[in-house]
Amino acid sequence: MDRDICYLKGVGSARAKAFSKLGIRTAEDLLYFFPRGYEDRSVTKNIDDCEAEETVCLSITVSSAVHETRIRKNMAVYTMTISDETGSMNAVWYNNRFVKNVFSPGAEFVLYGKIERARGKLQIVNPIYEKAGEAKYTGKIVPVYPLTGGLLQKNVQSIISEALKSIGEIPEYLPEKLREEYKIPDINFSMKNIHFPDSLESYSRARKRFVFDELLTLQLALFSQKDVISKNDGIVFKDISGGNLLKNNIPYKLTGAQKRAMTEIISDLKSGKQMNRLLQGDVGSGKTIVAAMTIFLSHRNGYQSVLMAPTEILAQQHCESLNEIFKGLGINVVLLTGGLCAADKRFAYEQISNGLADVVVGTHAIIEEKAVFFKLGLVIADEQHRFGVSQRARLCAKGVNPHMLIMSATPIPRTLALILYGDLDISVIDELPPGRKPVQTFAVGENMRRRVYAFLEKNIKEGHQGYVVCPLIEETETLDLSNATQLAATLREKFPKISIGLMHGKMKPGEKEQVMEDFSRGSIKILVSTTVIEVGVNVPNANVMIIENAERFGLSQLHQLRGRVGRGADQAYCILFAHGSGEVTKKRMETMCASNDGFYISEQDLKLRGPGDFFGTRQHGLPDMKIANLFKDGDLLKMAQDAAKKICINELLQKNDEYSALKKRVDRIIEKAEILN
Ligand code: ADP
Ligand code: MG
Repeated sequence: MDRDICYLKGVGSARAKAFSKLGIRTAEDLLYFFPRGYEDRSVTKNIDDCEAEETVCLSITVSSAVHETRIRKNMAVYTMTISDETGSMNAVWYNNRFVKNVFSPGAEFVLYGKIERARGKLQIVNPIYEKAGEAKYTGKIVPVYPLTGGLLQKNVQSIISEALKSIGEIPEYLPEKLREEYKIPDINFSMKNIHFPDSLESYSRARKRFVFDELLTLQLALFSQKDVISKNDGIVFKDISGGNLLKNNIPYKLTGAQKRAMTEIISDLKSGKQMNRLLQGDVGSGKTIVAAMTIFLSHRNGYQSVLMAPTEILAQQHCESLNEIFKGLGINVVLLTGGLCAADKRFAYEQISNGLADVVVGTHAIIEEKAVFFKLGLVIADEQHRFGVSQRARLCAKGVNPHMLIMSATPIPRTLALILYGDLDISVIDELPPGRKPVQTFAVGENMRRRVYAFLEKNIKEGHQGYVVCPLIEETETLDLSNATQLAATLREKFPKISIGLMHGKMKPGEKEQVMEDFSRGSIKILVSTTVIEVGVNVPNANVMIIENAERFGLSQLHQLRGRVGRGADQAYCILFAHGSGEVTKKRMETMCASNDGFYISEQDLKLRGPGDFFGTRQHGLPDMKIANLFKDGDLLKMAQDAAKKICINELLQKNDEYSALKKRVDRIIEKAEILN
């Protein structure tokens, strides 16, 4: 299996090079290079039953010679008549003079190609052809591989077929018991049928095997940190009363979704097991108050809590919110960020270790690094994108199995959440607080720019603020993108009386914070920035967001950005400048304009990504999926997860020899996957 592919028949140095571009070097790589689809050439159709636009297999007799027609200088059409018992039609090839030498009247062939309508009549266009009885590429289900330049389907098919033959028996790595339990076919059947299925039924069994295989291995890799899986004993929070005390400080009623999340959290806190919960909720859904209530319970039970934010600005904002919510309750909220001066830091550390700090709010980094807690009972992480398993484990070590709550504002489809957080319980806040006006979103072209700027100016004159966001600029692609610096200069020229701030990734943290603070206070009216503002800043007075080159952003990211406006009482607007006229771009922009629901948008995002795009796993730090479709394979994922949990709990990878081959594969994933480090 680990032999270089150049030992295979049909692979010369040119093809080997083309394969290596696809990441294929060994025979094993080649076998795990799965088709992206299949053409069912197994059933032949009657000519009479053909319909326009379908792709069919025909078993025919040639009934005329091939006629050549020159339609212009570089274009010749080759036409012949074909027939079967039910009727006749034309077969047509463009610029393929070879066909003249292939066909003669009376010969029997199998054709496979697309039926099109021309001048009212059906014809088969550019079909592939094989002599009847010698079928290698027709009369069966044929794989279609995700190829790039330099390789032809036909060649790859025969090279893979060759590889299967020369390798012979492939060693099985999924233990028989496991396969029996989950009705998973063995590796040899599966490998043959994923490439060259005998029938659609065999194909779907083979696919089931590899999807299960892939998800199981990934899941085992994610579970590889042992104590993540088996739930630790946890602190019992006995006193869960006192909600009334806090209620007086909250000027609104909780939404149904917030209440539900709180009920789920409380049941964890009482259970005697460590809470490991993900709180998912769209931007603005009100996660902070849920966090605050949980912190409050921790305090009532005599424990310290920590709330971690991805940036200093967010930590500061959380600190302010908590102080507001806890006003008059005698809870000491301590801020700990890299920006504090040495003396303040020392003072903070002191309060944390002697227990005077009831709640510590800070950035991930600094808390992980140095803080020593007196009696830590609750860790809350406000997560930006992802939060690795090992990172969680390090935090747990700061207390004795403190309860963990991870807040995520990146709505992701349930299946992806299950993979990324397979070891967590999930609460979803799927309801926005009442009275929120959905942000009105428009996708526009360059021709609208003047009107868009006039609209921005009008809103600023009415006392509002606005964001203008540009994609991050890679050094290699400066020209065609609106560069934030340039754009700020243009806007300053255009609106000399309006104060315009600029923020980009290359600025020092201190500078960024200054700009952000000025914007927050209102002394900056328009903030031009790269995506650095994505993180959950809260400036309710900003009601216009303009996004340049919106086609460059993922939908979830656009949604995240849009969440920066619409936080106040007034109607907010998001304007997307989108370039390019591709169908997908159009659909993506339509989705943004039509919906304000982050979960819906993230599902559409997955749907709209083409097959080669691996369903957005990369952005979450997961390895590429070769075959599993996180959008569709929810059931198999559950099975794989179930299997993985059993394997982990019984430590089968470590203790059972039958699992050693599987363990090797898991270890290989661990080496490669970024999320596991
Ligand atoms: P996020 O989930 O993005 O962290 P926040 O917790 O910042 O959202 O809440 C967004 C805004 O909604 C805050 O100003 C908060 O005070 C307000 N809010 C939260 N819950 C409710 C509610 N049930 N009713 C009304 N307003 C609420
Ligand atoms: Mg938040």
